[in-house]
Amino acid sequence: MKRIGIIGGGASGLVAAIEAARTDCNAQVFILEQKENIGKKILATGNGRCNLTNRKMEAACYRSENMDFVAGILEEFGYEDTLKFFESLGLLVKFRGDYVYPRSDQASTVLELLRLELLRLGIQIYTGNQTLELSQTAKGFRIRTQEQTFRADKVILACGGKASHNLGSDGSGYGLAKSMGHTMLPVVPALVQLKVHKSPFAKAAGVRVDARVVALQGDTPLAEDLGEVQITAYGISGIPVFQISRYIAMGLYKKQKMSVMIDFVPERTEEELLSLLIERISGREDMTTGDFLTGVFHQKLIPRLLEQAQIRMNTRVGEVTRRKWQHFSYLCKRMILPIEDTNGFENAQVCAGGIRTEEVNPLTLESRYVNGLYIVGELLDVDGICGGYNLQWAWATGYLAGRDAAGKPSGR
Ligand SMILES: Cc1cc2nc3c(=O)[nH]c(=O)nc-3n(C[C@H](O)[C@H](O)[C@H](O)COP(=O)(O)OP(=O)(O)OC[C@H]3O[C@@H](n4cnc5c(N)ncnc54)[C@H](O)[C@@H]3O)c2cc1C
Repeated sequence: MKRIGIIGGGASGLVAAIEAARTDCNAQVFILEQKENIGKKILATGNGRCNLTNRKMEAACYRSENMDFVAGILEEFGYEDTLKFFESLGLLVKFRGDYVYPRSDQASTVLELLRLELLRLGIQIYTGNQTLELSQTAKGFRIRTQEQTFRADKVILACGGKASHNLGSDGSGYGLAKSMGHTMLPVVPALVQLKVHKSPFAKAAGVRVDARVVALQGDTPLAEDLGEVQITAYGISGIPVFQISRYIAMGLYKKQKMSVMIDFVPERTEEELLSLLIERISGREDMTTGDFLTGVFHQKLIPRLLEQAQIRMNTRVGEVTRRKWQHFSYLCKRMILPIEDTNGFENAQVCAGGIRTEEVNPLTLESRYVNGLYIVGELLDVDGICGGYNLQWAWATGYLAGRDAAGKPSGR
């Protein structure tokens, strides 16, 4: 009887186990999880609601050194396959735009359905069991954990990266993959907040503003996004910041000068903003600049923006030259914030970088170096943007590896 060992009971590992057991009902499938429970991270996804996939599924929503690999996997197992898989577990879903969530809006529903299926299929789950060592034997693999040693014919490495390690993934999977001869690209935090060097907006912490953010390496724009930016005491957060954060993190890793340019008025051009301000002056010449801008910007942003443009808060509007307003408009559209760091792996949702994808088969995720070894999920050098793409990656790679490890076409 074939023994399939899954190291890591997270999103990719649980799907891999289910698909392996469904494919070969005689296989003995077991999961080794270092935490006290499986799927801890799943519970935290989507703010506890689990954004499990996205209707707009395309390779462009991912980053990797090897984009063909990403496209190939999504072709094999796309958004509809995810829906079909979860339907088979009994999950009803709902949509917010293109984002897909469980109908219950509870991540725990997703985990519970996975758990029930693991139970139904008789998959053995060993929790509190960290894998310390993986080695090849004449007959397959030897897996040494804290508790005991296991033997397996096939092994699926599904340990995740090292983002949010309080939820499980602590980076030990990279070491296990490397011990089997694999190599990796540098790993940096992604989908993470950014720390601004001496942030001029620290006093505006708590403000949420619709803005465009652009990741800059020196003067070169690398990526941009638009949406609700949150100002924090240490820097900036919010979905658009998350979306560009992997570029900043990679640049910082390479010791490049990284900054974020914020456009606080994305709905107008600089000229339109200037005209708006100039027209607004008429009849308001005696107002202070602070009062004059009330109604245009968030109250807490006004002193910070004026300060940057070197306009005093209590100066009368009539006394401020057009040139000064020009400079003010320019800065509102192009506020450069130097980034000193990200908020670290512990606050990141995913990792960018990881095991080189060229080293695994693009259809089955089997190692090109070690027969019977598979590497899936976030361990690989693939990261998605916000919106259900990272879980999709975990489900897809887990599914394909599980099916191949069991060695038969799917269909039980
Ligand atoms: C707060 C938060 C919110 C998120 N929200 C979303 C979202 O809404 N949508 C989305 O698409 N993505 C989201 N993500 C990202 C998504 O959760 C991950 O990309 C995905 O879980 C990765 O799956 P994985 O199976 O590769 O790794 P993980 O889910 O991290 O699972 C790896 C498992 O392996 C175990 N493990 C690691 N090393 C060992 C070892 N040596 N021995 C035994 N066990 C080990 C870990 O304990 C863990 O349980 C979010 C992430 C975070 C942190």
